[in-house]
Order: sequence, then C-alpha cells, then structure tokens
Amino acid sequence: MTMNVLGYATQSAKDGLAPHRFVRREPRANDVVIQILFCGVCHSDLHQARNDWGNSIYPMVPGHEIIGRVVSVGRDVTRFKPGDHVGVGCMVDSCQHCTACEKGLEQYCEEHSTLTYNDKDRHDQMPTFGGYSEKIIVSDKFVLKIPEGLDLKGAAPLLCAGITTWSPLRHWQVGKGSKVAVIGLGGLGHMALKLAKALGANVTLFTRSPG
Ligand SMILES: [Zn+2]
Ligand SMILES: [Zn+2]
Repeated sequence: MTMNVLGYATQSAKDGLAPHRFVRREPRANDVVIQILFCGVCHSDLHQARNDWGNSIYPMVPGHEIIGRVVSVGRDVTRFKPGDHVGVGCMVDSCQHCTACEKGLEQYCEEHSTLTYNDKDRHDQMPTFGGYSEKIIVSDKFVLKIPEGLDLKGAAPLLCAGITTWSPLRHWQVGKGSKVAVIGLGGLGHMALKLAKALGANVTLFTRSPG
C-alpha cells in the first residue's frame, strides 16, 4: 500500500515551506520504512527550494540529513529490523550495475544516482521527497546504521556536511602531525574542524567574524 505522509513542502521558488500531505510509494522487497526523528538543514536545501540551480521540481520536500527509526523492512532486507536507528543522506538509489556502482562509488553512477528529493524514483518515476517529513522509504543499500549511544539529533548533520568533509580528510590521510585549515565555521566548517581535531590534526580556523 502507498503511504500518506505529512511533510513541509514549498510549492514554488517564491513560497516558504508549509505543511503538505503527499504519497510515498508502496515499499518493495528491499526497502526500509523509516520514521523520521531528526533532519538537518543543509544549505543546498535552500538552493533547491529557491530553484537556484534551475532544476527544481515542485512541490518539493527538502531534507537529506535524516535520522530515524526503522518501522518495517521488506522480505529481502537482512541488515535492519524494526526499532533500529538509521540514517539516510543525499542518495536513495542507483543503477547498482555500472562500473562506479560496483566499486561502491554510487555518487558517480553512470545512470545518475537517485537523489533523496527533487528527483524521480528510477523504477516507478514517482517524485522523491526528502526528510522534512514523517516517514521515508529507502532501498536498504542506501540506509546507514547509527551506532548505539550516538546523540541522534547531533548525528543528523553527519549525513551530508559530515561525509562531505570526512571524505577529503580521509583522502589526504589526515592524522597526527597533519596541519588542517578550515575556512569558515559554517555547516560544513564546524564538522571539518571537529573531525580533523578528532583525527589528531593541528587545526586552524579562518573566519571573518570575531564571534
Ligand atoms: Zn547537503
Ligand atoms: Zn550505477
């Protein structure tokens, strides 16, 4: 059965977010149904809501730093069970068979990965809607486990701002003895600063604000 869900949507580039009812797809065999507990606000949510990149689909429910609790799982799902705490980032699906997907680099999917919102489901062409809502249905490969003991609302920004800064820190093998400079203590900047410090680097922040 499809699912009627309440979220916050914008109806055009000029509208603000307002309560909006919409339909989510019927869960498939490899889907996880998630009750959303927290969702971060990423600046790209604002760009998308205002059509700054010229590709916005309306109505739009933004949100791609999602933390929630598993409600139910499809019959082929083995990694999750009801009650688990999970996270969802900016992608919810990909082709699963191209060279990039086979290497675990779904962000470079040759057939274009399916984004969490402002996109279309690759199987039924229904619009995707993001985390500013009560529930979301996601292919299990794109659902992440959230470790016990992690502060759930604090974990939400890890799903976009966190991975965006974690990835280059790992790429450059930042650790003890590294020097890292972060420009701006914004959504990404504060994550970069905390992650680099936790990795043991000597971290400097550049800012224009005395605060
Ligand atoms: Zn983001
Ligand atoms: Zn692919």
